[in-house]
Amino acid sequence: MYTDAVLNVFSQRYPDAREKFMSAAEMSSIVDKVNSHQHTLKGPRGEKLFCDIAWAGNLNAKQVLVLVSGLHGVEGGVGSAIQSDFLTRHRRLPADLCVVLVHALNPWGLAWASRSDHEGIDVNRNFVDFSAPLPTSKSADIWKTLIDKKVDINTVGSDRQQFDLLSEGQYDDPTALYFGGKKASWSRQCIEQLAGQLHLTEREQVIVIDLHSGLGPYGYGEIISDHPVTNPARNTVLDVFGASVTEPALGTSSSGLKQGLHDYFWHAQGDHVSFVTLEFGTFSSSEMLRVLFADQQLQQHKISWQDEKTREIKYAMQDFFCPDEKRWQELVLFRGRQVIEMALNGLTSLNGLDGNVNN
Ligand SMILES: [Zn+2]
Repeated sequence: MYTDAVLNVFSQRYPDAREKFMSAAEMSSIVDKVNSHQHTLKGPRGEKLFCDIAWAGNLNAKQVLVLVSGLHGVEGGVGSAIQSDFLTRHRRLPADLCVVLVHALNPWGLAWASRSDHEGIDVNRNFVDFSAPLPTSKSADIWKTLIDKKVDINTVGSDRQQFDLLSEGQYDDPTALYFGGKKASWSRQCIEQLAGQLHLTEREQVIVIDLHSGLGPYGYGEIISDHPVTNPARNTVLDVFGASVTEPALGTSSSGLKQGLHDYFWHAQGDHVSFVTLEFGTFSSSEMLRVLFADQQLQQHKISWQDEKTREIKYAMQDFFCPDEKRWQELVLFRGRQVIEMALNGLTSLNGLDGNVNN
């Protein structure tokens, strides 16, 4: 369906993903500037790490689309491909539209093939108020019990209720999965800074699409809304994206209710800000817990990329979250384009403009 040249936007590894994104931004006629936030650490081959933010279109436009990749590190291969594809395809944008592409929000995780950041923080559980008492969860205790009893992880992921409980986010044990942290993470600080630069109160409508992978049916891109069901922004999400929107609060999503989501930060910026997660399914939840658990245990020690066992665990993470399979990549690209098109149409129809999107 898509040629190899089109699918070439996919990369499992950070340096390739960044190179493709940066060269697409460089060649682009719509990109005005790129801000690069350098991380303090380096990648497995000594490469520098950045979260790169490309600003496209009319930077002062009333309508803004924000596309975020790599909040969950290793999942960034997917989002990066969609972003590079977007920059390659769009040669002009409607006059009153600004598109902001946040590439590799957690570059350390993408480079080291981890879902969490360099401090073991799950960035998508990190957006809580750290000046208030932290949410409590039984999940760290459940993990401990599972490990002590040597329970087969495969049996855990197949139990939806237990999976939701385990993945809801916990603030007690930095060595266990889904740890939300004790302070604002490096990636969260990038987002907070970006929100300041966006001058959100001066915008009319903002849509944020956060690109993830790992949950749901193979290749399917699920549009997840965690807006409160009584919130006006939730209606905007339904208007713009239609009936394929799912909502954890209603039990219609492959994702459960969670603490400290990236969503909540943007929700708090006003009813004119809508946020959806675009989650691409790969393989089973049991398989996900198996690869995540192996990586989590590995990350408790100083690791070397030269070590064969390390690479085996890391490659399993990359193959799970961004499969190097043409059929999967085609599904992702088609749906990615479709969802972005819906967002662009939604934003531009608000002031009567036509999408003007080139192929
Ligand atoms: Zn994710």
